[in-house]
Amino acid sequence: MSPYLTLDDVDVAGLAVLVRSDLNVPLDGGAVADDFRIEAALPTLERLVDSGARVTVCSHLGRPQGVDPAYSLRPVAARMAELSSKAVVFEDEEEGQIRVLENTRFLPGETNNAPALADRLATGVDLFVQDAFGSVHRAHASTVGVAERVKSVAGPLLDAELKALGRFLEEPDRPYSLVLGGAKISDKLAVIQNLLPRADAILVGGGMCFTLLAAKGIEVGDSLVEPEMIQSVKGLLQGYDEEKIILPSDMVVAEAFREDAAAETVYIRHIPKGTIGLDIGKETGALFAGVIRDSNTVFWNGPMGVFEWERFRTGTERIAHAMAESSGFTAVGGGDSVAALRMLGLQGEVDHVSTGGGAGLELLEGRILPGVEVLGRWAQ
Ligand code: ADP
Ligand code: MG
Repeated sequence: MSPYLTLDDVDVAGLAVLVRSDLNVPLDGGAVADDFRIEAALPTLERLVDSGARVTVCSHLGRPQGVDPAYSLRPVAARMAELSSKAVVFEDEEEGQIRVLENTRFLPGETNNAPALADRLATGVDLFVQDAFGSVHRAHASTVGVAERVKSVAGPLLDAELKALGRFLEEPDRPYSLVLGGAKISDKLAVIQNLLPRADAILVGGGMCFTLLAAKGIEVGDSLVEPEMIQSVKGLLQGYDEEKIILPSDMVVAEAFREDAAAETVYIRHIPKGTIGLDIGKETGALFAGVIRDSNTVFWNGPMGVFEWERFRTGTERIAHAMAESSGFTAVGGGDSVAALRMLGLQGEVDHVSTGGGAGLELLEGRILPGVEVLGRWAQ
C-alpha cells in the first residue's frame, strides 16, 4: 500500500484545491532568473484546472523575516502567466484559473507551524495537494499544518521525486554508484553514511574531497578543508571497505581562488603548497566517467569543481556528459548540479532531475520528511 494518496485517487471536480508548490526561484532585478521550478510546477496546476478544480497555489520564496517586497511572489505569478496556457492571477486580482498567493514566509507562524496560521490556510480548502518536494523536509504551516487539517494528497511532482529518489534507498540495479561533489563534506556526510552500505562505489570530487584526502594524510595545500569534520570522516573510512570510496587521482590546482588564476594539473600526492584544488583532473574525469558508464543506477549531487568559472568546469562537464550517456537509471540532485546540467543543455538526457536540494539530501540520509509523513493519515 502506498504511504500516501495521489491525484489519481481523488476526483477534484468542483473542489477548492490548495497546492503547495516549490516556486522558490532565483530573482534578478525583480524578474525571474530561472524558470526551472515554474516549469516543473505548472503541469500539476494545469492538470487540476483541466479536471475542474478551483486552484490556489502557495509557496515560499527565499528567507525573508516577515514582509519584504524583494521576496514577493508577484513577479513569479507574472512569469507563470506568460508560461501557462491558463489564466494565472496573483492574490486578490480578478478571476483567474490559477490563483497565486503571496510568499508564505510573509505570514507570521509559517516556520513554527502556528495553529492559527494553519487554520487560516486550511479555511475554505477541500483538498490540499503537496507538490513542493523542496519543502517537505520542513514542518511549516504550509507543509504540515494545513495537511493535518484537510484531506491531503501528494502531487505528481512530489510523487515522482519520492519514487525516483526512493530507488537509491532500496534495491537498485547494480552496479550502483554515487557521484558526490560540491562545496562541503559536512552537508553530505550523512548521505555517504546512509548509502555507503548500499552502493557499489562512491566517487567523490568537488571541494568536499579535500577533507577526505586530508583524513587520509594527503597534503592538499590551501584547498577547502573542514578540519572539524576530519575525525568523523576517519571514522567513516575505518568502518568500510575503503575501495568503495573513489577519490581523485589528479587535480587542477590554482595559485589563488580566482576565475583567471594560473592553473596546472598535478597528481593528487603532488599538490604544491599554497595552491588550491579547483577541479578534478583529466585522469580522474575519465575514471569517474567510466564508472558512471558501467553503472546501472547512478545518483549525482555536487559539481566536481568551481564550474561557475570556465577554467575549472571541465570535470563537471565530463561527469554531466557521462550521466547523459549512461544507459542506467540516472538522477541528478542539488541546486548547483542541476544548474550545471542545464547550462550544458543536458537536463533532458538524464532520467530524473530533482528539484529539491535539502529535501533530497535528507531523504537520502534516510530521514523521515514531515511534509510527506503527514500525508499518511489520509491514506488509511
Ligand atoms: P549542489 O547545490 O549541487 O548540492 P553544493 O551547493 O554542495 O552543490 O556545491 C556547489 C558549489 O561547490 C559550487 O558553487 C562550486 O563552485 C563549489 N565547489 C566545487 N568544487 C570546489 C572546490 N574544489 N573548491 C571550492 N568550491 C568548490
Ligand atoms: Mg548548492
